Amino acid sequence: MNNLTDKDFLAKRVLMPRELTAESGAKDKYIGKFYEDVLQECPYCQGSGFINDEEVCEECEGAGSYGLKVCISWTTIKEFYKRVVSDYGVEARS
Ligand SMILES: [Zn+2]
Repeated sequence: MNNLTDKDFLAKRVLMPRELTAESGAKDKYIGKFYEDVLQECPYCQGSGFINDEEVCEECEGAGSYGLKVCISWTTIKEFYKRVVSDYGVEARS
């Protein structure tokens, strides 16, 4: 028995498109929906937390960095999806 005739295997699968495209409506569904937190060095104190080596930086309150919420780009979403399909997809046969 191969994977395509194994009912337990197939029960854990779904049929999905090979690629995400703007034409299919995927871009509208996913763009602007995924974010990640990135730690940025404070540009005012260059990460030290201090101005002139004695004053606590008012911008970062002495932390030297701050978190920035960054939107995952449409290009990255498509690349990630394509990679998942490549790694886990099973070729459909007629
Ligand atoms: Zn700072």
